[in-house]
Amino acid sequence: MTFELSDAQRDLQARARDLARSTIAPRAAETDRSESYPWANVEALTEAGFFGMTVPQTYGGQGLGFLETVLVVEEMASVCGVTGRIAVEANMGAISAIMTYGTEAQKKLAADVVLGGDKPAICITEPEAGSAASEMTTRADKRGDTYVINGMKHWITGGGVSRLHLIFARVFDEAGQEQGIGGFIAMGDETPGLIVGKREPTMGLRGIPETELILEDLEVPEAMALVPPGGFRRGFAELMNAYNSQRVGAGTVALGIAEGAYRMALDYSQEREQFGRPICEFQGLQWMLADMSIQLAAARSLIYKAAAGAGQHGDSAFPDALEAAQAKVFASEAAIKVTNEALQLFGARGYSRDFPLERMARDARMFTIGGGTAQILRTVIASRLLERKLPQTRDGHLKLAQQKTVRAAE
Ligand SMILES: Cc1cc2nc3c(=O)[nH]c(=O)nc-3n(C[C@H](O)[C@H](O)[C@H](O)COP(=O)(O)OP(=O)(O)OC[C@H]3O[C@@H](n4cnc5c(N)ncnc54)[C@H](O)[C@@H]3O)c2cc1C
Repeated sequence: MTFELSDAQRDLQARARDLARSTIAPRAAETDRSESYPWANVEALTEAGFFGMTVPQTYGGQGLGFLETVLVVEEMASVCGVTGRIAVEANMGAISAIMTYGTEAQKKLAADVVLGGDKPAICITEPEAGSAASEMTTRADKRGDTYVINGMKHWITGGGVSRLHLIFARVFDEAGQEQGIGGFIAMGDETPGLIVGKREPTMGLRGIPETELILEDLEVPEAMALVPPGGFRRGFAELMNAYNSQRVGAGTVALGIAEGAYRMALDYSQEREQFGRPICEFQGLQWMLADMSIQLAAARSLIYKAAAGAGQHGDSAFPDALEAAQAKVFASEAAIKVTNEALQLFGARGYSRDFPLERMARDARMFTIGGGTAQILRTVIASRLLERKLPQTRDGHLKLAQQKTVRAAE
């Protein structure tokens, strides 16, 4: 087994590194301080061809894989976590779900919008349905050739700056019969009924808005309903399958942030002198650096494996759920450790807002929460190890309890 990148992949990585270090890095502190969406970075990424990289050539993209996306995301995140996240959502998540399950018209629309510089928003979470995402109550009622959507989402990344929204909702037919869960494509700036609510005051990654999304009689044409194979009944499972790409992407941002912090700590430890010598000469710090490098190497291996393995697991075009979960859990926890160790190595400067370490530590903190918490992803992993589907919903837990009671009674 070899993990060698091809020449084309190395070229892509080098191009991303140049752009990240020359253009994105100098803007990172201001993006955090101003809490404003870095439109200039979006423009730079779009011009460089880093938006819609996974869009097939037939639709105007480059038809690259998730591994290529990961290489670009890693470079961006190593200098600016926010830009890393933008690069994820411009290539994975909603766009890859639409390019896999969508109709011709949906694919063409999504490709045009993303290649034009839009970072789509994926809208799943609700105030009462976080980890238990399948308990969402947002509903899409069929009325003729339209779906009317009502409900409330929150923690929507890019609320107010994204045009394309992929909204998950419970689907009801005209007779009021529930059909399952589907995705609905709505354009934020053209659709009455899609209202951006409160922006969350976040700990980190402050250049990207996290907002509520209020859906009030939002009308989506039937032609913009994303129906995965197996119909709405299989909708949630299939859409979550697509979400595995986003999980690998989130893990990559965590990895990138940690890498950036580690590089700074490595340099600083050779420049800063105490007791008449560079602090890197103290064995205690050498071991910290060694541990950081181990965390990074292990996280990178898991992420590259999950990304490169996309499409090699059954019929799915996406990364394997187990590999994606392992990669995200490990990388997100490694990022918290590594950024904190790097901050420690900077001493008081690590704690100062004049230096980037405190921003990186704040940015890294998110990834064990968003996109499936570390606890839920461990449940995903365990369910595969135990080869059974562990219940994710309240009903599921009840059914399991009832089955156990029946078995005990027998
Ligand atoms: C910065 C950020 C960006 C986000 N972006 C988006 C987005 O773009 N779109 C979107 O739809 N959502 C988004 N989210 C929402 C995110 O996916 C949810 O926050 C996440 O799924 C957890 O839901 P919750 O916050 O409601 O926590 P809860 O589900 O309330 O969980 C609370 C705690 O209980 C634990 N827990 C819950 N159930 C179990 C269980 N069965 N076993 C063990 N532990 C359990 C959790 O791990 C957690 O520690 C984002 C969140 C953040 C922080």
